[in-house]
Amino acid sequence: MWQEQLLAWYNQEKRDLPWRRNIDPYHVWISEIMLQQTRVEAVIDYYHRWLAHFPSIEALANADEMEVLKCWEGLGYYNRARNIHKSAKYCVNHYNGELPKSYEELLELPGIGSYTAAAISSICHNEKQSAVDGNVLRVYSRLFMLDEDISKQKTKDYVKKQLDTLIPDASGDFNQAMMELGACVCIGNGASRCNICPISDACLSYQKGKIYEYPVKGKKKERRIEHRNVYIVKCNSRYLIRKRDSKGLLANLYEFYNEVGNDWISGQNIISNEYAQSYVHVFSHIEWHMQVYVVELQHPCDGLWVSKEELSMYPIASAFDSCRQYVI
Ligand code: SF4
Repeated sequence: MWQEQLLAWYNQEKRDLPWRRNIDPYHVWISEIMLQQTRVEAVIDYYHRWLAHFPSIEALANADEMEVLKCWEGLGYYNRARNIHKSAKYCVNHYNGELPKSYEELLELPGIGSYTAAAISSICHNEKQSAVDGNVLRVYSRLFMLDEDISKQKTKDYVKKQLDTLIPDASGDFNQAMMELGACVCIGNGASRCNICPISDACLSYQKGKIYEYPVKGKKKERRIEHRNVYIVKCNSRYLIRKRDSKGLLANLYEFYNEVGNDWISGQNIISNEYAQSYVHVFSHIEWHMQVYVVELQHPCDGLWVSKEELSMYPIASAFDSCRQYVI
């Protein structure tokens, strides 16, 4: 059976990752959310820092949102951090500061979808729920030559249903083994290492020499491009920043002044305005093409002015990382 071969391989070869050392539902939850769309190597530092700051769900629930966003700063997709925070409060109010155990109860928490609920309930409580992420979809598609578009929700639902019938009793290890295989062996973009794959005997696309035809993916939507001017505004060794809206893209994070036109700058008492650099910041659905200017004002205008030291206390959206070098 390919499931047994996969489990045997996983037990031998699995990477030694901090959240695998001591299975704690809170730790597994944080690592699973951090790992979505982020590489393992990048997550490890954030993971340790997070647990040092918020050692328990209760500590997290009692924290201020700004502290939570600051700890997430640089990981992107900040809604993930906001939802973890909301869920922690929910757990304190409804589950005595613990995460609920079952897949169905976990699904009720903000930011926990089918994948995360299945990962936590299987890894921590051995519930037989398959966790289907991008890695697992790729492995499954190749293993069974699935001719459906894996970006569609109905395909993801179908794969979960099929894997739920195939998952062995060691469900947590099986889910992690599928993800590990997808991350380290059955890699995307033409880099698959089928020669060392523990389940190549069972893999239909490998047996038929068609692995590069899978997974089937529909065309991605094109990203909208926005040209923005960014102003690093200084006056008397202080810098002007602002908080973004509480709704929408990068909600509640801080940023340097920026806009699509140049209305803001034209109303200011400027001493100097120098072009500094251009760069592109890519979100999933939009690209910001940034033109950065360093602007010095004669008198401070209304707004939040901070020193270089104070700036480091605010959660600044990572779209503005390149601008920090001009704060000197
Ligand atoms: S044989 Fe190749 S394509 Fe098939 S599951 Fe293994 S790595 Fe993926």
